[in-house]
Amino acid sequence: MEAMHPDVDHILFTEEEITAMVKRVGAQISEDYKDKDLVLIAVLRGAVVFMGDLMRAIDCPLAIDFMAVSSYGDGAKSSGIVRIVKDLDIDIKGRDVLIVEDILDSGITLKYLIKNLSSRQPASIEVATFLWKDIEGKQAAINPKYVCTHCPDDFVVGYGLDYAQRYRNLPYVGVLKPEVYS
Ligand code: 5GP
Ligand code: MG
Ligand code: MG
Repeated sequence: MEAMHPDVDHILFTEEEITAMVKRVGAQISEDYKDKDLVLIAVLRGAVVFMGDLMRAIDCPLAIDFMAVSSYGDGAKSSGIVRIVKDLDIDIKGRDVLIVEDILDSGITLKYLIKNLSSRQPASIEVATFLWKDIEGKQAAINPKYVCTHCPDDFVVGYGLDYAQRYRNLPYVGVLKPEVYS
């Protein structure tokens, strides 16, 4: 097991587990999109690590672009407010869009994004999320087509995910010690 950051209470998914999950999802996407015009759109900044690994696990022609939206502040609680901070550079009309997300919790962010991108008339639009906080009795606003793994309802960091912009570079996904928040 890799050395753990002192702020991390426990590891949920190791680097090796993540590699296997991303390869599995990449293979599914390769199969589904082999005859399509795939555009991966990653949501900054949390999804950059997943994007980098996922695009190399996909074995068909693709384009990439990035969007930045803001729905959480620097804290651990959702503000419920979504705004576009950086828009796409490319035209997605008639193309097959796959939104790449780090984590799906309430789905408020993605629901807004799907509505916004749909108005630009892509041929199709689907979601690939690295983590899904698919908690019983807690309905997400959208249904992702590709999911690397389900995740407990803890605040997680690593593999792109931050707390106050830190911990994105951890190669694993972990739960912070409670004292880090206070
Ligand atoms: P949603 O709109 O689905 O509730 O939240 C989406 C965004 O909130 C994610 O893309 C992510 O940036 C942030 N988020 C939700 N849960 C977590 C978490 O457990 N850890 C971190 N670091 N960010 C989270
Ligand atoms: Mg995100
Ligand atoms: Mg964040």
